[in-house]
Amino acid sequence: MTPAKRINELRRQIAHHNERYYADDAPEVSDADYDALVRELARIESEHPELVDDESPTRLIGAGALSSTFAEVTHRQPMASLDNAMDDAELAAWGDRVARGLGDERPRFVCELKIDGLAISLRYERGRFVQAATRGDGRVGEDVTANVATIESIPGVLAAINGVKQGPSVLEVRGEVYLPIAAFKRLQAAKEAENRERLTAGRKPEPVPVNPRNAGAGSLRQKDPAITASRGLDFWSYQLGEVVGGQPLVSHEASLKYLHQLGFPVNPQIKVVENLAGVVEFCRYWQENRHTLPYEIDGVVVKVDSLAQREVLGNTSRAPRWAIAFKFPPEERTTILRDIKISVGRTGRTTPFAELEPVFVGGSTVSMATLHNQDQVAVKDVRPGDTVVVRKAGDVIPEVVGPVLSLRPAKSKPWQFPKLCPCPLRTELVRPEGEADTRCVEPACPYQRDQRIIYFASRGAMDIEGLGENTVFQLSDAGLVADAGDIYSLSREQLLTLDKWGATKADNLLNAIEGSKQRALPRLLTALGCKGLGPSASEALSRAFGTLDSIMLASEADLALTDGVGPIIAASIVRWFAVPNNRAMVEKLRKAGVEFGRVEVSRLPQNLVGKAIVVTGALEGYTRESAEAAIKDRGGKSPGSVSAKTMALVVGTDAGASKLTKAQELGIPILDLAGFEHVLSTGELPPAN
Ligand code: NAD
Repeated sequence: MTPAKRINELRRQIAHHNERYYADDAPEVSDADYDALVRELARIESEHPELVDDESPTRLIGAGALSSTFAEVTHRQPMASLDNAMDDAELAAWGDRVARGLGDERPRFVCELKIDGLAISLRYERGRFVQAATRGDGRVGEDVTANVATIESIPGVLAAINGVKQGPSVLEVRGEVYLPIAAFKRLQAAKEAENRERLTAGRKPEPVPVNPRNAGAGSLRQKDPAITASRGLDFWSYQLGEVVGGQPLVSHEASLKYLHQLGFPVNPQIKVVENLAGVVEFCRYWQENRHTLPYEIDGVVVKVDSLAQREVLGNTSRAPRWAIAFKFPPEERTTILRDIKISVGRTGRTTPFAELEPVFVGGSTVSMATLHNQDQVAVKDVRPGDTVVVRKAGDVIPEVVGPVLSLRPAKSKPWQFPKLCPCPLRTELVRPEGEADTRCVEPACPYQRDQRIIYFASRGAMDIEGLGENTVFQLSDAGLVADAGDIYSLSREQLLTLDKWGATKADNLLNAIEGSKQRALPRLLTALGCKGLGPSASEALSRAFGTLDSIMLASEADLALTDGVGPIIAASIVRWFAVPNNRAMVEKLRKAGVEFGRVEVSRLPQNLVGKAIVVTGALEGYTRESAEAAIKDRGGKSPGSVSAKTMALVVGTDAGASKLTKAQELGIPILDLAGFEHVLSTGELPPAN
């Protein structure tokens, strides 16, 4: 394609996206994808200056056509955009341009958060709020006065400074209207709930808002200001526009202070720094910590502080030379959802997930994202073939936020949850009444079986290095393992027959498997994968029963008496051991020499099972924790308060009165140190009681 053709194509695409973003508040591509188009256009234009004209989006600000919902407002001073720096090098290049522009003078910089919202201009005449306008194309914006008047943090009247009410006769304040994350989540949840009702009534779901920026812009640009009022928008001011009268100001820092005094919200995170190193530090800090804020930011805005220096530096056609927006790497991208599949977990629970056209977002390439469950897919109405917004923020797992409806293929149909398990057995899936999850209930399901083995070997369980997901799939496909017990009979020869397995890899795995035979009982118990039995309940059971055999033999009632276990887990354990395949697996482990009774605490008589002893005050030779542990080590409970079920209250020195009074009221035996030690050694109350 010739450069001229590509330029035309890019301008056409950018104009289209501007319309969708600024006029409709419903973009079709992520900001990062849009920015890439603008950057490509700027690059070609700089290589071919003869092809540049003043109508290029690289020279213009924001919106194309303004919406007919609002009257037009001509800005007395144009509202500019900002130039962007995508990395440290571009930031440094801006710093150099500023330094060159100022000659001998050194600038100070004001660093501000780049709030991801909507720029707004507020006009006050004789101290009263009279008009609010969007930026529009920088020259003409939309009159959103009635909507902005509903935002609580925007003052209707300017505050008096030092008791003096005489403010400027005209004051224009600029800043960002934004939707706080909590308000966005509320809106999203309300829409999802509404969609659930729509789906039950057989109606089509409506679009769910995908991010605070677009939801915020949409909330502000409502025909009915009452809707705006209900959304919980907020505002940060960061700039003065036209000012007639009032205080003379020489710096941006002073302007911000003035804004604050006049009653406008000014962001508390603003920092003045003396050089570019300070700017870089501020950018780094907020890139790392952006998710600690209750609103979204997409970068940092750096501004030269001195207003006189700003005059010297001036503006380009679309942005000031004295400011730059340092943009953070994107956390949202648009991509194609190729397909929706389901995965089957070790307990048979199925989870739908999206297979995506790989996309670089939030610092890594994402090609898969969970869709949680059937209802979530229906409520968001994402379908194979859709263009979707994918988000990966901080350490959070990637998420498909929603579809871009305007790009949906014509013949697309809502996705249907599969009726059969994707494994070769193709068992019918069931969704129990009132549950969100759909399950495969076939115990022989090979997908569940593989997941159980993966879980058995995982870090929190038997911790067998080298036995991750892919190795388990390979071993299982080769027919070498059918359950976790088979791991222990793997031979070197068998491993060497596998694709890409050499002697070292095989020996390392065999050594890791051998090492795992010595794991402590809580790990082995967790590794079995009984539903609901996690590390802490495994720990408690190990303490109470000492060996796997005692746990296997224990009654459901005895198991349920263990502190931190309870009837549901107890029932699940009994059910698990009742399955013949599970018993067979345990026997394979025994035969292989897996340790069945390594508990890290000393084994003590379990003479306090089912008994609750409360401790209060200081006991000689014990800390509070060690006294409670002594009770728990013998199978008892040590709750924090006295009740009718308490066996005894142990009272040390400096004990509070409340537990004692309660015990006396209920007639609960009260013990001193000697009495406590008697109970510990015999499990019975001392004779005097
Ligand atoms: P910009 O968002 O890069 O920067 C300028 C804006 O930053 C200002 O107008 C103001 O609203 C805002 N801002 C936030 N905090 C500020 C602060 N402390 N001080 C000063 N300004 C602050 O530029 P733009 O011209 O508003 O918009 C272009 C951007 O909008 C693109 O880079 C893209 O991210 C997005 N966009 C996306 C699409 C799309 O289809 N996804 C389309 C058009 C624009």
